[in-house]
Amino acid sequence: MSDRHILTAVAWPYANGPRHIGHVSGFGVPSDVFSRYQRMAGNKVLMVSGTDEHGTPITVAADAEGVSPREIADRNNRIIVGDLAGLGMTYDLFTRTTTANHAAVSQEIFLGLLKNGYVFPKTTLGAISPSTGRTLPDRYIEGTCPICGFDGARGDQCDNCGNQLDPIDLINPRSRINGETPKFVEEEHYFLDLPAFTRALGDWLGTRKSWRPNVLNFSVNLLDDLKPRSYTRDIDWGVPVPLDGWRDRPDKRIYVWFDAVVGYLSASIEWARRSGDPEAWRQWWQAPDSDAYYFMGKDNIVFHSEIWPAQLLGYNGEGDKGGTPGSLGRLNLPTEVVSSEFLTMEGRKFSSSRQVVIYVRDFLARYDADALRYFIAAAGPENQDTDFTWAEFLRRNNDELVAGWGNLVNRTVSMAAKNVGAVPTPGELTEADRALLATTSSAFDTVGDLLGRNRQRHAASEAMRVVGEANKYLSDQAPWKLKEEPARRDTVLFTALQAVSDCNALLSPFLPHSAQKVHELLGGTGVWSPEPRIEEVTDLDDGSPYPVITGDYDAAQAVWASRPIEAGVPLAAPTPVFKKLDESIVEEELRRLEEDGDSE
Ligand SMILES: [Zn+2]
Repeated sequence: MSDRHILTAVAWPYANGPRHIGHVSGFGVPSDVFSRYQRMAGNKVLMVSGTDEHGTPITVAADAEGVSPREIADRNNRIIVGDLAGLGMTYDLFTRTTTANHAAVSQEIFLGLLKNGYVFPKTTLGAISPSTGRTLPDRYIEGTCPICGFDGARGDQCDNCGNQLDPIDLINPRSRINGETPKFVEEEHYFLDLPAFTRALGDWLGTRKSWRPNVLNFSVNLLDDLKPRSYTRDIDWGVPVPLDGWRDRPDKRIYVWFDAVVGYLSASIEWARRSGDPEAWRQWWQAPDSDAYYFMGKDNIVFHSEIWPAQLLGYNGEGDKGGTPGSLGRLNLPTEVVSSEFLTMEGRKFSSSRQVVIYVRDFLARYDADALRYFIAAAGPENQDTDFTWAEFLRRNNDELVAGWGNLVNRTVSMAAKNVGAVPTPGELTEADRALLATTSSAFDTVGDLLGRNRQRHAASEAMRVVGEANKYLSDQAPWKLKEEPARRDTVLFTALQAVSDCNALLSPFLPHSAQKVHELLGGTGVWSPEPRIEEVTDLDDGSPYPVITGDYDAAQAVWASRPIEAGVPLAAPTPVFKKLDESIVEEELRRLEEDGDSE
């Protein structure tokens, strides 16, 4: 047992709509499996995130509906909070980027960078409407993408190829309001001096040996061509630029991506402020022996292995221009950027606009959260793009959860309940008994090592291999044939129950909801696997209400070790832990996908 401080920094879901299972396979389930394991291992985890609510797509959605961006953000924040709590995501704090605290911390990082010279003003060409003379926000300009040739690219980003753009880059730019050609005039913006971090980022990445090779290689390659990047944008929805002459301008804000990544820090500070010890965040951000793991899908690597580390280095005064830390003090860089690849759906890319999608809430309305968590951990896109198929989901659920693990729990507990009514008292253990218990207890080292290194697919299959060993033991020893030898029968059942208890701990990070049930079937009381809760709070500074996800996770009993079961603990006849799914769901879900896809 150790007690390291571990920050689990989970990518911020964007609040322009509900999240689908492709999203949560990237940032969601892997980060929670990791955090639950680390807490069981005795470490002090701080898991933070929130909804990312600034930027153009939200203002575009608001324009389309004729409502304010805040209304769009409020609505989707609430939906996403419900989805992630339903999945059992144990955030210490899941908040949002529209809090006053977040704005203040984002502005502090900007000012720290400015003080050290890593953010600088530069005259660039900004768009104005020739007919009104007013600034045209980036989103109101469209044209042809200079990178992929897509004709509907916006002034800040091309939705076809995903590249960030400047309005001046567009070929044949036009105003989306009236079709006129915007006039480009000189105006000031602030830029992040990324080239000043080439050396410091290279030194840091050079020490990151444990990363997934594709993530590390991608990150190192980015260093070949760093260019200053615009820190401010022409937009009216975002964090104000904290400078005289800028603060009150309605048309200039900090670029959404540069405030979103600050969210890891601002959420940690908000958590500390809410905990009653406003300085508590420092243990995760400043102690030299604390660790920080960042979880995301691969489309966000650049912001976590380049932009955010550059912001941190500049704030610390550790780029080529030197400097001193800002008023918060020196901040730690990520220990590891843990990025997943993409999940596809029945061979197609997830797409909300084309309805190739299943939203988390629809999934959870029809299936158990643990079944989805298990699929993502055991068969998800950890190292390569991976396809979600309903047939494979059904197979994993029915063969591995129901017939494998669930059946082991069910037959062991029901035999002990029926024959003894309690955890039986064992006699002397045979070699076979000892061999099984050696297997289950040594699995804490092997599975734990894999989980600590975020090899979750391998960890899940290793835990299930141990379940298989226990099932084989039970078939070999056949306690149901030992009616004439009750002492031996009791020893076998005791051994099997101890194995079930061990396997339940090994599977708890993946299957927290069913782990709680198994804990109770084994006669346990109280909380084994902690659950998050949704709490209605008010903004600490401006009083506006919003929901957060939080929880009391340290009081839970789950530990990463074999816990001896106690003879005599009463056992009742078990109810099934997992639901067997009917084969017909495959066709049903495929039909649903076709119907949704046709309905646009
Ligand atoms: Zn493009």
